[in-house]
Amino acid sequence: MLSSRTSLAAAADLLWPATCAGCGRAATSWCRACAAALARPPAPTALADGTPLHAAAAHAGTARSLLLAVKEAGRAEVRPVAAAALAAALGAARPGGPVVLVPVPSRAASRRRRGDDLVADLAARTAQLRRRGGAPTRVARVLALRRRVADQTDLDADGRRRNLAGALRVLGPPPRGPCVVLDDVVTTTATAGEAVRALRHAGADVVAVVCLTCAEATLGEGSQPPGG
Ligand SMILES: [Zn+2]
Repeated sequence: MLSSRTSLAAAADLLWPATCAGCGRAATSWCRACAAALARPPAPTALADGTPLHAAAAHAGTARSLLLAVKEAGRAEVRPVAAAALAAALGAARPGGPVVLVPVPSRAASRRRRGDDLVADLAARTAQLRRRGGAPTRVARVLALRRRVADQTDLDADGRRRNLAGALRVLGPPPRGPCVVLDDVVTTTATAGEAVRALRHAGADVVAVVCLTCAEATLGEGSQPPGG
């Protein structure tokens, strides 16, 4: 009985979300205070290769709670909030003109757990919002894992780089036009860096990386002068 009651409660939460995904406040899925907090994106930074990295928010507080809600708790009703934040970050990275969004592929285990590819779905929603704003935007799901990679959670920056080196490849011809790599969270930049490398190796024109949240340490590194 317990399990059916639990799933009923989960279904009710989807239909009538009980709490704000950012702060836990009752009676709304996303409150005004959290919306205001998410409307102040951090200064952009850059990957080690110089590719601009635009995060919608630092991986802390409200934004971190939002990420965990869509990524771990399966709260699909707040995916539009995440997509709107991504669209704003994309607008800062690329104010006008055509863009090809290239989502970082999820590991097969994550796709099975969530029932779909979260980042690809966020890319589709983000592209739709940008098109509504008049900018030609399409999604190209061309990145694929070349081999199995370990779960990154317990790996440090060097471990992540080694884990991912050469792990991604581009399926088919590279997308034409300015490409923006899209991911949900950037921690050490190992994944984003590998995505950019694979796309450039295939001949794509990568102009930026956009993510929902980015580790504060990584955002801080980018504000230092090169070599510092
Ligand atoms: Zn809130």
